[in-house]
Formats: sequence, C-alpha cells, structure tokens
Amino acid sequence: MSTLLNTPQNWQQHLAKAFTDITELCQFLNLDPKDLPVSQQAEQKFSLRVPRNYANRIKKNDPKDPLLLQVLPVTHELLTDTHYTSDPVGDINALAAPGIIHKYQGRALLINTGSCAINCRYCFRKEFPYADQHLRRDAQSSALDYLQQQPTISEVILSGGDPLILNDDRLHHLFAALKKITHIKRIRIHSRIPIVLPERITPELISLLNQTDKKIIIVLHCNHPNEIDNTVKAVTKQFIQNEYTVLNQSVLLKNINDSVETLQQLSETLFDAQIQPYYLHLLDKVTGTQHFNVQKEDAIRLVNTLRNTLPGYLVPQLVQEQAGKPAKTVINLQSTRQFE
Ligand SMILES: *Cc1c(COP(=O)(O)O)cnc(C)c1O
Ligand code: SF4
Repeated sequence: MSTLLNTPQNWQQHLAKAFTDITELCQFLNLDPKDLPVSQQAEQKFSLRVPRNYANRIKKNDPKDPLLLQVLPVTHELLTDTHYTSDPVGDINALAAPGIIHKYQGRALLINTGSCAINCRYCFRKEFPYADQHLRRDAQSSALDYLQQQPTISEVILSGGDPLILNDDRLHHLFAALKKITHIKRIRIHSRIPIVLPERITPELISLLNQTDKKIIIVLHCNHPNEIDNTVKAVTKQFIQNEYTVLNQSVLLKNINDSVETLQQLSETLFDAQIQPYYLHLLDKVTGTQHFNVQKEDAIRLVNTLRNTLPGYLVPQLVQEQAGKPAKTVINLQSTRQFE
C-alpha cells in the first residue's frame, strides 16, 4: 500500500474507505457498541464519517478516547435545550451573496462545499442550510462577483464544510478566478483535512496552491495532541517549506481537551509540528451539542493556568463567536481567579 504513488485518485480512495458504520468502527476499535451510548438515530441526523488514517490514532478498547468522542454518534445528541439552536452565530443573517459570509472588515468567508472528510459531532455544520448556497461551480460566479465588487476585502477565507475536499479541478478554477481579483492579498484555508485525511495533501495540490500570487495561510483544526502523528507532521512540513503560514484553532470540548495537561500538550505538539496555536473557541451552541460544553468560567481558569505554564506564543486566544459582533469576542481572562 505505502509504495503506491500518492495520486489524486488515491486520496479519494482513502476518503471512500472511511468508516461510515457504527458497528464497523466499534469492531475496528475492539469495542462492543452495547457498552456505549451509541445512537443510530443521531447517526441518521448527521452521519458517521471517520477516515481510516484518523481511526488509526484512536486507542483500541477505550470508550473514552478523546478522538473517538469527537466522532461517535451518541444519545446525548438527541437532547434538546432552548439555549442550543440551529444558527447560534448568526451566519444566515450575514450572507452577503450565495456562499459568501461577510461579517468582519477586510475578510470574507467563501463557502464552496458542505462536505467534510470527517463528521465532528460538535459541529455547527449539522444545521447549516448548505443546499441553499448554490455551491455548484456554475453558480459560483455571483460569489466571485461580490468579492470583485468589494475592494475592502483583502483576505478570502475558504471555508465550508472543508474546502480541501474539493477536487483539484474545482480548486484550480477557484484559484484562477481569485487570481483575477487584485485587491485580494491573502487566501486563508480553514481545513481539518491535513489532520484527518493527510493523504489529500498531494504534490499536485501543493503545486496548484503555489500557482497563486497571493499569500497562503492554512488554519488547521486540531483539538487534541493525539491527532498529530508523523503523517500530519510530514504534511505541515511541506506547508512550511512552501512558505505558507500554518495556524491552528481548536474548540474547547468537555472530556476531550478541557484539562491543563491536554491543552499544554496540544500547544507543544502543535509547535513541534511547526503549527502556531491561534484560537481556542468556546463551543458554538448548536442543537444537540450541550454535552460538549465547557462553562466560560472554567475555560478562563484553564487558560489563565496555561499562561503560567507555557510561553506566551503557545497560548491560544480564548474566543467566542457571537452573532452581530464585528469580530470574534476575546474572552476577558481577568474575570475569574485561576486554579491554585
Ligand atoms: C472567524 C471568522 C472570520 C475570521 O476571523 P479572524 O479573527 O480574522 O480569524 C471571518 N469571517 C467569519 C464569518 C468568521 O466566522
Ligand atoms: S466543518 Fe470542521 S468541525 Fe465541522 S464536521 Fe467539518 S471538519 Fe468537523
């Protein structure tokens, strides 16, 4: 297997072989679904999807593995709570054109796809009406027209879903179109794919990205140090060699990364892989995710303690996305006493 050339078709085969069945994933991990709070009903609402490469990093026989908890459909997702809604961050109101979310000055988010290589149970994407966004290539022109007509936009953020799930042909067309918009200086790619499906980062993809004259920033989405293995490190090394800026954002998730030890190890592991910690997000309160929520006061205590244990450049900014605000809200760390 490992001697095969990493052709674009090859990454698509890896994607096609992802686990999509609870029982099969459990078998692979030596777990009995009967011992777990798994829910087929939750799976039907938002399907299970776990690439093999990522599944290899889940510990066997461990129902509490922090990577498993991010992907396993469980009964808690069916609970309702009036504080958890389908669009807690106000994205639908901020749609400037089909596929364009323009909330912040100088930056616009471009949504090209609703698909991802993995399905994370805490994700806002569960509820977002992608189908209304005319994501097909032939309808992309109105989004690009909007970007062309807004000279204050200097940075385009490719988001989704996961923009790197698009095939090379579609990415090529998108990058060619963005190249013509001269006021865009930076293309930022928000993606979890280098972490969950590193096979997708092919030499063809790198050379496609290198054809742009704009600065490339990759914002990874890694939540736990165990998500970073040698395949991920090899990928980020390539990004650095090609002079992309590589940042990471995480979501603070209960029982997954809500301890000082884990967050400290996460920052250090990221840094070893040449990735700069950027944001630590409080959970977006999306329907069915309340079992992942960490209280703001606990988050503040965690980050205050991190600041006493790590160099400043390894402490991510604790932020929260709030509807209608001109930027992400940086949480004030002074408002609670730290852990003793
Ligand atoms: C998070 C986000 C951005 C980027 O914000 P930064 O603080 O620059 O990382 C831009 N637009 C939208 C809609 C966002 O949610
Ligand atoms: S958008 Fe990101 S967090 Fe949500 S399912 Fe896709 S990869 Fe996971």
